Amino acid sequence: MPFDLQSRLAARRAEHLYRQRPLLETPQGPEVVVDGERLLAFCSNDYLGLANHPEVIAALRRGAERWGVGGGASHLVIGHLTPHHELEEALADFTGRPRALLFSTGYMANLAAVTALVGQGDSVLEDRLNHASLLDAGLLSGARFSRYLHNDAMSLAKRLDRAVGNTLVVTDGVFSMDGDLADLPALCATAKARDAWVMVDDAHGFGPLGASGGGIVEHFGLGIDAVPVLVGTLGKAFGTAGAFVAGSDALMETLIQFARPYIYTTSQPPAVACATLKALELLRREHWRREHLNRLIARFRRGAEEIGLTLMDSPTPIQPILVGDSARALRLSALLRSKGILVGAIRPPTVPAGSARLRVTLSAAHTDAQLERLLESLAECWSRLSEEAPHA
Ligand SMILES: *Cc1c(COP(=O)(O)O)cnc(C)c1O
Repeated sequence: MPFDLQSRLAARRAEHLYRQRPLLETPQGPEVVVDGERLLAFCSNDYLGLANHPEVIAALRRGAERWGVGGGASHLVIGHLTPHHELEEALADFTGRPRALLFSTGYMANLAAVTALVGQGDSVLEDRLNHASLLDAGLLSGARFSRYLHNDAMSLAKRLDRAVGNTLVVTDGVFSMDGDLADLPALCATAKARDAWVMVDDAHGFGPLGASGGGIVEHFGLGIDAVPVLVGTLGKAFGTAGAFVAGSDALMETLIQFARPYIYTTSQPPAVACATLKALELLRREHWRREHLNRLIARFRRGAEEIGLTLMDSPTPIQPILVGDSARALRLSALLRSKGILVGAIRPPTVPAGSARLRVTLSAAHTDAQLERLLESLAECWSRLSEEAPHA
């Protein structure tokens, strides 16, 4: 029987992989109402607490009054408005690149950049733990596609030796499910020695990382020579929506001419660009958010170690607790929820088989007391889980 959806769905359930969407009935923030329940949340990517910031909201409202709501057309027709243009200039200044180009989502920015740069007869090499949008982009490009071992410059070098045509090396800056940093100094040197270009998607690094929130390239001090294609998204630490690619004038013109996900879509609402301009100003100027966040990260790691949890090698607000088995990860998430704490269980295929985890994320909006509450609940739930289902 064709289209037997029910049995596919049943199989998904049986594997403990069935996904459901929690309904958020409040704005983003530490204290939320989800499916009618008041919870303390540690799972959003609003790392700096800007998604519900009064100044960002006011900028959005003023933007809508001045520019209306819809973008109205694609950027190439008549949808490229003054706020979009101003935001691109501000993002170029922020990243220290000659130009930046605004996109409606990070998924589209990644599809656009990869498919505009490589095609048949070229090569695209990706970290095996890259975000799904980067992997999809590599496959869609039609270039020879190969994945190297996670963060392994030696493994990359071997694949570079077999690469043909224009060669693009693509990596997350901060890995979205692990929180660790790409080893950019080594990866960029390896790529450069073989005339390959490096593209970094720093969706999770912009905001939390770098002295002024400039992400992993600021953290490592890497310019446009090392990283010619730099992608950031605006729905995480910026607290708004959209994404950008930053790089040379020729790269931006290439995207405008050839990138189908740029050309064939309506521009984002201009008021959202107004809100992002305000968020960018707060992100660059108000260092206390990064400083408070770094203190929370250090405190969480010490506390979790004392409980005996397995953390990952992460200096970022993404602090996953490795559990392994999907059913066990779901159970730990459910135990925490019964104590009023919301942390999502991340399971395959989002992460490799056997590495299900609780993806704890911290935000500058969390207080010290809220973090202590998380640690106390984790201690209780972890010992309860160990009693219920001792690890094999
Ligand atoms: C979230 C994310 C994206 C997608 O960005 P959206 O704006 O949400 O489409 C791309 N890359 C990485 C690494 C991400 O974490």
